[in-house]
Amino acid sequence: MNQTSPYDIVVAGGGTAGTAAAIAAARPGRRVLIIEESNCLGGISTAGCVGEWFAGITGMGDIFNGITAELTRANCAWGRFFNSEMLKIILQHQMQKSGADILFHTRVTGASVSDGSIKTVHCHNRSGFFEVPAKFVIDTTGEGDLAAYAGASFSKGDPVEGLMLHMTLVFILCDTGKPVTPYLPEGLQAIHSRSELPGLGTGGRLPDGRVYCNATKVMRHDPTDGKSLSDAEAEARMQIARIVHYMQRTSHPTYQLCASGSKIGIREGRRITGEYTLTEKDILAGVTFNDNIAVATSQIDFHSLTEPGHGGRREQVPPYGIPLRALTPKGLKNILTAGKCISGDQVAHSSYRMTPTCCMMGQSAGTAAAAAVENSVTDIRMIDVPHLQRILCENGLVLDPKGHSSFYIQE
Ligand SMILES: Cc1cc2nc3c(=O)[nH]c(=O)nc-3n(C[C@H](O)[C@H](O)[C@H](O)COP(=O)(O)OP(=O)(O)OC[C@H]3O[C@@H](n4cnc5c(N)ncnc54)[C@H](O)[C@@H]3O)c2cc1C
Repeated sequence: MNQTSPYDIVVAGGGTAGTAAAIAAARPGRRVLIIEESNCLGGISTAGCVGEWFAGITGMGDIFNGITAELTRANCAWGRFFNSEMLKIILQHQMQKSGADILFHTRVTGASVSDGSIKTVHCHNRSGFFEVPAKFVIDTTGEGDLAAYAGASFSKGDPVEGLMLHMTLVFILCDTGKPVTPYLPEGLQAIHSRSELPGLGTGGRLPDGRVYCNATKVMRHDPTDGKSLSDAEAEARMQIARIVHYMQRTSHPTYQLCASGSKIGIREGRRITGEYTLTEKDILAGVTFNDNIAVATSQIDFHSLTEPGHGGRREQVPPYGIPLRALTPKGLKNILTAGKCISGDQVAHSSYRMTPTCCMMGQSAGTAAAAAVENSVTDIRMIDVPHLQRILCENGLVLDPKGHSSFYIQE
């Protein structure tokens, strides 16, 4: 790729938000490239092995509907749970149908910015370093890498110590049908009771027989710091060994470890400061905005930052609107964020970070970027918001919070 790159829109990060953004931007005919550092689309929902929606799943837009319909057709959706491996295939298939180009195994490393506009996105892959010019970019890296590299300001963690929600390496157990010998690498401490487990219990059995374990908990690490992220991954791996050993000796004597996420799941990283910052007060009030482009339905899911288990705050909230301004980084003109890195305080983030909400935000950001390019709008603040909202509604997004139900599970 060189300076004559043919792309109108570059989407950085191919998680749920990025996938929806690229599909939405490409299908009206824009030339779109999605850049993903791993080997599949879906982010936490696939590479992270998190096969669960934790928010309402209706009114989220036709892209989300298409994904759930295909999972159902493949016999891989069970209520709010799904098969992450099949999702990789479905997302890639939908992306290829949209006409967007995919570049896997490529990391976004920086940006060239002039007069508040991103001119090129800097990347690195096996071929070396290169730049991709674009008219518009969308940051769906989860941690807000591209916006931060372009100079956007951001918040991280709690206001006192900067502690972020913990990271989790999800794993899956399979039944071997016969007793297994519990295994613990030498030198690791055995777990003897449920109260010694690091995270959320020991997991639940899926209808296909596998046991899904969202059970590791790595606290006090920073996923935007390379060394800290590496240390978190290493700690989580050893937690898996200890938890599996415990499960084999107690509840799951015939089960063996069969898979884990190809990378640790990051709940929280940078929250890029936008033209509007969603707050705890907003979400408790079920706020709505003139420029709503998505609706979040999920509860506050604020795990304890310092204690094992959940030990935090779970609280129902009414459905609330997410304004385009929360996806618009301050000081930059031709970039939107979508997904868990949008502008919010830490408590609001613990609710809107859920996957269906990220998908809806992604579809909206992609649609907005496509409209901006089509109408030669060079600053997203100048976009015709009512027109954008009409397109989104035509494409299945219910933008009025009253059209959604509140999602709450006390586990
Ligand atoms: C352990 C765990 C359990 C969870 N459980 C649930 C649940 O049960 N239900 C639910 O709805 N939500 C759950 N969540 C939250 C939800 O999964 C995520 O918040 C949501 O999926 C985030 O989507 P995203 O697209 O914003 O980010 P991600 O899924 O993180 O996608 C970001 C993508 O960008 C790529 N990327 C990052 N940086 C770069 C870069 N510099 N260059 C190129 N590519 C890059 C990543 O590889 C990734 O593919 C959970 C989260 C975790 C961590």
